[in-house]
Amino acid sequence: METKVAAEGGRGAAATVEPAPSHFIRNIVTEDLKRGKNQGRVHTRFPPEPNGYLHIGHAKSICLNFGLAAEFGGLCNLRFDDTNPSKEDVEYVDSIKADVRWLGFDWNDREFYASDYFLKLYQFAIQLIKAGKAYVCDLSADEIREYRGTLTEPGKNSPYRDRSVEENLDLFERMRAGEFADGSRTLRARIDMASPNLNMRDPVMYRILRATHHRTADQWCVYPTYDFAHGQSDSIEGITHSICTLEFEDHRPLYDWFLDQLAIHHPQQIEFARLNLTFMVLSKRKLLQLVQHQHVTGWDDPRMPTLAGFRRRGYTPEAIRTFCERIGVAKRNSVVDIAMLEHSLREDLNKRTPRVMAVLRPLRVVIENYPEDQVEELEAVNNPEDPSTGTRKVPFSRVLYIEQDDFREVPPKGFFRLSPGREVRLRYAYIIKCVDVVKDPHTGDVIELRCIYDAETKSGSSQSNRKVKATIHWVSAAHSKTAEVRLYDHLFTKEDPEEVSEGSDWLANLNLKSLETLNASRVEPSLTDAKSGDLYQFERLGYFCVDSVDSKPDALVFNRAVTLRDSWAKIERTQKKGLDNAAEARRSHLSQP
Ligand code: ATP
Ligand code: MG
Repeated sequence: METKVAAEGGRGAAATVEPAPSHFIRNIVTEDLKRGKNQGRVHTRFPPEPNGYLHIGHAKSICLNFGLAAEFGGLCNLRFDDTNPSKEDVEYVDSIKADVRWLGFDWNDREFYASDYFLKLYQFAIQLIKAGKAYVCDLSADEIREYRGTLTEPGKNSPYRDRSVEENLDLFERMRAGEFADGSRTLRARIDMASPNLNMRDPVMYRILRATHHRTADQWCVYPTYDFAHGQSDSIEGITHSICTLEFEDHRPLYDWFLDQLAIHHPQQIEFARLNLTFMVLSKRKLLQLVQHQHVTGWDDPRMPTLAGFRRRGYTPEAIRTFCERIGVAKRNSVVDIAMLEHSLREDLNKRTPRVMAVLRPLRVVIENYPEDQVEELEAVNNPEDPSTGTRKVPFSRVLYIEQDDFREVPPKGFFRLSPGREVRLRYAYIIKCVDVVKDPHTGDVIELRCIYDAETKSGSSQSNRKVKATIHWVSAAHSKTAEVRLYDHLFTKEDPEEVSEGSDWLANLNLKSLETLNASRVEPSLTDAKSGDLYQFERLGYFCVDSVDSKPDALVFNRAVTLRDSWAKIERTQKKGLDNAAEARRSHLSQP
């Protein structure tokens, strides 16, 4: 049933994903406007329940609803569907508002709450009771379920179904007045217990619940169900296109029934497929579980698929909006490859981020023939994609750090970086040659390289175009700053986190290595003043963001937002697979940034 949407999966060529063509919802709206429906109005809404933080799936809905309104000169409301006080909280309301704004959308003064309509909804309920279309039922929740029947068997009528209008009015008022215990009675719609659609089998409209609501406090002890509140809230707000996800298709006849019985404005409900992403769960209930059981540090943990998590990790609103545009809108459930989201981010960050040099796992390099006390300020390009950002100075000195990975004592086939007797170019600087290797006498680990440099090969000078097979990044030991760097991997080990063997659950698929913290990384001195949320490309390594929670001016913390494509890792994998693909390997290697 599910189809997999292919994306640029890191499998070679830098595919550019074309923007998606128009979609069926846009077509419906265009058609409605052409026919003059709704007096030419387009009015949508984004209706979150404030019971958790927004995730990337919600971003799809936000972009769709606010996007269509903007495109057709209409309006989009922000409405909190806050009908379940036991699970809702102002913390969630505030986070949702912050996230929608961050994504770049504005609801102006149209911030609404289903709870604004509690009185109105109560009056609607009374109207239905008076019309003989609703009744107070004394069955317990379990009994209601039992009476409901199944997909193959019709339900049974409640013994309370034929109460008189007077009795129903009296009981419902007393429910509201707090005369009855929680769960002891409900108000139900009187529709059809034999309907093939289970939602139409006398669904519950109101339940008794003594819970303090984050907006109406203890004013109410009866609360409308989502199904009774949602369609009427849309109607009250004059929504023209009520866009929701596919699971509400079966609820549409019920929403229509309520609106018909009440004879009020009828928004048009249109369902689309929810977004699913590989290696992620997109369900607030599950995300809450991850937070509560401390599998992550909070809703804004950079591994979370929440907008707060993506923001902290270094995702930009532009990248997320582009992604939402590209995945399109369909009627059929599918799973989108996470690589497609990462691609949108790389594309955006490639344009906007300054390049800097940082060394994640430092290996000390001493340049024996470079004067002890000399420091040169070398010129480095800030962003080759944006010449207007100019250049900066990077200090070069006798003692440097390079990446441990950029040195191999015994270079494997296809490895062209530094090794004993070999030369590499240091980015923006000189060609150096490794002449000796210093090891820890106890562990045998390589702890220092002794190198010599060729003074004639300074970047930009006449001799600088002497060929070497690799260019690596570096920082000056004395000038660089220590930083903590957090490297993230998928939160789950399986593309489909729900794929589990019998007897275990999705939590068994948690990736226990989804966070690697490096405490001794070094960054070039231009990052001394890096501020919370600042984004950089660390040359050859990826895109990094200053952590908005833990980073301090004198103790910088960076999150890796996304890697660059790592051609060497690919070569190594290929070699491990026993495929001798030397030609391909060399090509990839030479195109290494
Ligand atoms: P969850 O299952 O994550 O708890 P929800 O649907 O219960 O999500 P709501 O707060 O009710 O969360 O969602 C607000 C709006 O966002 C709804 O219109 C819903 O259809 C939409 N939405 C939620 N998840 C997705 C998704 N994965 N893809 C697209 N739209 C979504
Ligand atoms: Mg919901």
